[in-house]
Amino acid sequence: MKNQDLLQLVEEFGSPLYVYDAAKIESQYKRLTDAFSKVEQFKIHYAVKALSNISILKVLKKLGSGLDTVSIEEVMLGLHAGFDPQEIMYTPNGVSLEEIENVAEMGVQINIDNLSFLEQFGTKHPKTPVCVRINPHVMAGGNANISVGHIDSKFGISIHQLPHLLRIIENTNMNINGIHMHTGSDILDIDVFLYAAEILFETAKHFKNLEFIDFGSGFKVPYKKDDIETNVEEFGKKLTKRFLAFEKEYGKPLTLAFEPGKFLVSEAGFFLAKVNVVKQTTSTVFAGIDSGFNHLIRPMLYGSQHYIENISNPKGKERYYSVVGYICETDTFANNRRISEIHEGDILCFRNAGAYCFSMASNYNSRVKPAEVLWLNGKGHLIRQRESFEDIIRNQVEIDILNETVIA
Ligand SMILES: *Cc1c(COP(=O)(O)O)cnc(C)c1O
Repeated sequence: MKNQDLLQLVEEFGSPLYVYDAAKIESQYKRLTDAFSKVEQFKIHYAVKALSNISILKVLKKLGSGLDTVSIEEVMLGLHAGFDPQEIMYTPNGVSLEEIENVAEMGVQINIDNLSFLEQFGTKHPKTPVCVRINPHVMAGGNANISVGHIDSKFGISIHQLPHLLRIIENTNMNINGIHMHTGSDILDIDVFLYAAEILFETAKHFKNLEFIDFGSGFKVPYKKDDIETNVEEFGKKLTKRFLAFEKEYGKPLTLAFEPGKFLVSEAGFFLAKVNVVKQTTSTVFAGIDSGFNHLIRPMLYGSQHYIENISNPKGKERYYSVVGYICETDTFANNRRISEIHEGDILCFRNAGAYCFSMASNYNSRVKPAEVLWLNGKGHLIRQRESFEDIIRNQVEIDILNETVIA
């Protein structure tokens, strides 16, 4: 997408604005399927939580993707977008057994990540195929919040509990059709990931009726210039080789599955915000934008570095700015960042705004959520209206307090 296109979209749909480039989602999807083209049964389940707009789900459906979901609401969104239940994987953590049973009843593939529920579910529904989430205790990932495979992690059934797991399956006679791991974000060292995969293969040998092995996600995408990223092509080559060998050993064809969120949509997203004020202080120059962590919380929550460009003045002389929001709490998007000279009214463009940006937005400070636009075949399509004040008060129930005589 060109800067001119983005500026035009802000003109048309207002600021702040999320814009998603369908072509980038498609090229990322292709990159991954190409890397695993030698695997006969390869399946991608897009992780809905990264960006859950129904039109985005439809783009992924069109590409041939399935979905990975973590709540019954995400399952319902997927069904609404036109996915078949069999194309949806449900990988919750800490939800009620009742919710898992309800999702299973819809015909969705469930993935259970604790022994207590596995035993209860298997006893009640021994025929329903179930995937089990294994925690291989391999530390992959650069950030404690998104590393979910290590020893203290609440996710998955510990590999050290395998004997107990197998006993439950034997006692209930339940049908385990898949095994899964998701070690967290940021596969930087491919060999570390392959090591975790090796543990999963070793575990898989204990199950006789597997149809698939799901390796979760963890593809790192570049966030800043010269940032490191997962070498998907090399990774594909190495894991394919190992997978095909395992398949032979296992003695029956298996599906190799992944469930990427960030990899598919992060770079497709642009967040556009207007500079309300340029504030020169004795120590720094603040560029205050018409947004805050209510719309994009990743820099404050994870310390993520989103590349920021002043698309109103891309060729201007670079100066140092602290880009901040309008929330009445410290909400710094970027500290001392070199950006081409900013004037009040300029539009700043945040890159990598596809994953975990809009989907984490809130109404804090009673602000409305931004509109979303899908850029498809050279044209911008509104795929979510900007909220209005009506949305802020919609579910509030007003009671007659002003006419009460006493408030004790
Ligand atoms: C969040 C999540 C993903 C997606 O992770 P990304 O880093 O966005 O690719 C995949 N699987 C599960 C189970 C998840 O919870």
